[in-house]
Amino acid sequence: MVKGVTVLGSTGSIGASTLDVIARHPQRYRVIALTANTQVDRLLEQCRHFEPRLAVMLDRESAEDLAQRIREQGLATEVLSGIDGLISAATHPSSAIVMAAIVGAAGLRPALAAVQAGRRVLIANKEPLVMSGHIFIREAIRAGAQLLPIDSEHNAVFQCMPAGFHSGKASPGVRRILLTCSGGPFRTSTFEQMANATPAQAVAHPRWRMGRKISVDSATLLNKGLEVIEACQLFGVRPEQVEVVIHPQSVIHSMVDYTDGSVLAQLGNPDMRTPIAHALAWPERIDSGVAPLDVIGLARLEFEAPDLDRFPGLRLAYDAAKQGGTAPAILNAANEVAVEAFLDGRIRFTDIARTIEHCLNTVSAGPAESIEAILAHDTLARSAAVDFMDRVSDTGPRKRKVR
Ligand code: NAD
Ligand code: MG
Repeated sequence: MVKGVTVLGSTGSIGASTLDVIARHPQRYRVIALTANTQVDRLLEQCRHFEPRLAVMLDRESAEDLAQRIREQGLATEVLSGIDGLISAATHPSSAIVMAAIVGAAGLRPALAAVQAGRRVLIANKEPLVMSGHIFIREAIRAGAQLLPIDSEHNAVFQCMPAGFHSGKASPGVRRILLTCSGGPFRTSTFEQMANATPAQAVAHPRWRMGRKISVDSATLLNKGLEVIEACQLFGVRPEQVEVVIHPQSVIHSMVDYTDGSVLAQLGNPDMRTPIAHALAWPERIDSGVAPLDVIGLARLEFEAPDLDRFPGLRLAYDAAKQGGTAPAILNAANEVAVEAFLDGRIRFTDIARTIEHCLNTVSAGPAESIEAILAHDTLARSAAVDFMDRVSDTGPRKRKVR
């Protein structure tokens, strides 16, 4: 039977990889709804190719532009806008599968709506899980939704988990989760070099081609910090049970260490189409278009411990994970605002972690009992971050735009 799929954030890096896998299997999947923020040309192109029933743009003017061009092309796709439009796409009655690939906290409401509608939700958008993973898991159980991780590390861990594994519950026999990390573009850089890094240098990831925000997160290692919290939420482990291992080749995507001494790993070429195809077809396996792994060509795999002095963002994420409550939401919000400011040339690369630290110290975390409580702390952290960065950029040496 052909399954309907909604792709939230279809014009992004994960969105494009998802459509690439779907296009290989027209007999299995049909695109029902696509969404984007402002990229009209890209979404129009996708609508021409996949002829979805619904296309949504968060931005109203972009949606009007898209609607007119869709009419001119004689396509039958309905166009909606705003958060209500995103939720209509996430809960479309013909979509059995929803790929959640919006970037940042902005994806929280649509992804949660898909979970509450009982869909199979492929969750690439890690920020909502960091902020409110326990609510996602609770709602998934209540609605009978399947929550499958797309983040390559978490998808790897999921593949290495024992039979009978349940999201959010500790699995018997699991001692540690080893999250691998490429180390990013500044793995061997000094603190001084990082203080002077430009946005172009920060987004030039050595192994993966990704959106700009996650690329900066990979350079600060905050991405790995968010992934530590994501792992605690998804796999029911404590922060002390999640170990980050720098593995520059990015071939082992993560490992699960069992009490009997067995360590299970998932390997593959660094290409997001593998976790996407895995979660689309799970528990079956389908072709993803990814080349077979050339094990002999690899020659060797290297591992090292992360340097928490040069990469304080990772330490801050562990602190927030241990603190719990709304601390991860505060960390995430401060990071989103700081990354945007860095990409805009308003603060230095090394100011990102300083901004996060300031927000964690000044915004007091509370219990993460509801989405409203979490979003309230998200808002507080964003304004604390803006105030702090204004002071940093007033006194700091970098006032000019670097982009
Ligand atoms: P991207 O920037 O390439 O794409 C983001 C998508 O979200 C675009 O379609 C954009 O139009 C849409 N969008 C942006 N802001 C929005 C808003 N406010 N409201 C609605 N839609 C909005 O990002 P990406 O690299 O594809 O990453 C998407 C998510 O997946 C992120 O949470 C990221 O952490 C996660 N992820 C990405 C990768 C990767 O390889 N790219 C790997 C693991 C996890
Ligand atoms: Mg990842």
